[in-house]
Amino acid sequence: MNKNIKSLKDMDPKAEIEKLKNENCAEDDVFFQAMEEVLISILPLFKSDKVFQDSKKSAIIRRLITPDRVIKFKVTWFDDNQNVQVNTGYRVQFNNALGPYKGGLRFHPSVNEGILKFLGFEQILKNALTGLPIGGGKGGSDFDPRGKSDFEVMKFCVAFMKELYKHIGPRIDVPAGDIGVGGREIGYLFSEYKKMTSSFEGVLTGKPDFFGGSLMRPEATGYGVVYFTKKMLELEGKETLEGKICTVSGAGNVALHAIEKLQHLGAIPVSCTDSKGTIYDSRGVDLDLLKELKLNQRVSLEVYTETHAEAKYIPVSEYPEGGHAVWSIPCYAAFPCATQNELTEVDAKSLIKNGCKSVTEGANMPSTAEAVHIMIKSDMCLAPAKAANAGGVAVSAFEMSQNASMSKWSFDEVDSKLEETMNDICLNVANTAKEYGVEGNYVDGANIAGFKRVAEAMRAEAI
Ligand code: NAP
Repeated sequence: MNKNIKSLKDMDPKAEIEKLKNENCAEDDVFFQAMEEVLISILPLFKSDKVFQDSKKSAIIRRLITPDRVIKFKVTWFDDNQNVQVNTGYRVQFNNALGPYKGGLRFHPSVNEGILKFLGFEQILKNALTGLPIGGGKGGSDFDPRGKSDFEVMKFCVAFMKELYKHIGPRIDVPAGDIGVGGREIGYLFSEYKKMTSSFEGVLTGKPDFFGGSLMRPEATGYGVVYFTKKMLELEGKETLEGKICTVSGAGNVALHAIEKLQHLGAIPVSCTDSKGTIYDSRGVDLDLLKELKLNQRVSLEVYTETHAEAKYIPVSEYPEGGHAVWSIPCYAAFPCATQNELTEVDAKSLIKNGCKSVTEGANMPSTAEAVHIMIKSDMCLAPAKAANAGGVAVSAFEMSQNASMSKWSFDEVDSKLEETMNDICLNVANTAKEYGVEGNYVDGANIAGFKRVAEAMRAEAI
């Protein structure tokens, strides 16, 4: 447990951390990790802002960390051999103080209630940072789309939506994609919702174009991550990304588009990873090949070296003890874009030793608490996920606007709104950090700014 907690014993957040941990979380639970970081970050707000000093009376923290509801359901479907398969589906409707519940669906064998509570909790503050009218939620299933036929994925999505449709709606809860849920899955889910309700409405975002999806939604998170970094480097007086070596983890939606935008800006992204290994291509990643392998063929990254023999493939079995191969590659800026806790204390030390100037979290909570602590104390810039990857949900909210008004924005229109939104988030986070005496600390700045907006709305709610 973070040792800072001990010195906070008289503060309301500390009591809440302990209480919640005892009631709900194992010590290593990711929900506890996410909540602990936020509650420590927001202490300056409780010390200086009078309106939050009555927090005990209004139970604002207790209300924030407790989901409005957790929906859990059985999903049964037929596989290609006509065997019945059973999975568990979830939707965590966490907080709708600012707008309809909004957050992705994750299909991955590791999905459980704790992971979705962590993601839903982060989503509340992330969505608040966008300044848009969206609350926080998250959902998914322990179903693993990898290795399944298209037909099996379709059967699963149909069965999943047969339960989920009862709980969602364009003004109630608007899910989107996440790990394992891309345009294909959203298309199947949307068409089943349409069938069950006889209603063509903006109930999911990240839809294919012809179902009313926003142009640029697939690109939004990855592009937004890079726009945020560009602005942060500018505000911190550091050199631009042009001509710089960058490392990226992941080879999914976020990573592919972060790599693409880095290339647009003249940077040289040299890596990508999947759950089996890492590609290090020192001349710069071949993005067309990567898209072909991951979006069309859906194969392991190892296949990359069949076309580029000079690139290095490092399997997980050869990773450094307690760390990840990708973070030992020297770089100017690093972009963890795969999954939670993929950048450890060992990796943080390695990045700093190799002169890395900036880490931007594209994935949700990709850095362990120890890694965050080390990076914040160094002179590198650290852009936290809830601010840096908010571009995806911002464009999802733009999709909700377009669906509600039956309009269609051009790619360039969405792109320029996205860049403007990421610049605004970055400035808000930097200014908030300054205002609360933690200048340059984007982690605390994001937590305070996000919490403040939601908490103010919650204080205005009737009980
Ligand atoms: P995705 O398209 O499914 O890609 C995930 C990538 O990460 C894949 O390459 C996957 O490799 C790899 N990966 C997953 N689990 C891993 C593990 N345990 N170890 C190593 N690699 C692993 O997912 P995504 O949409 O890019 O999401 C990536 C991260 O960004 C997640 O944390 C997600 O919550 C966050 N995020 C996504 C969005 C969005 O708009 N999509 C928005 C905000 C935040 P395999 O193919 O081998 O599994």
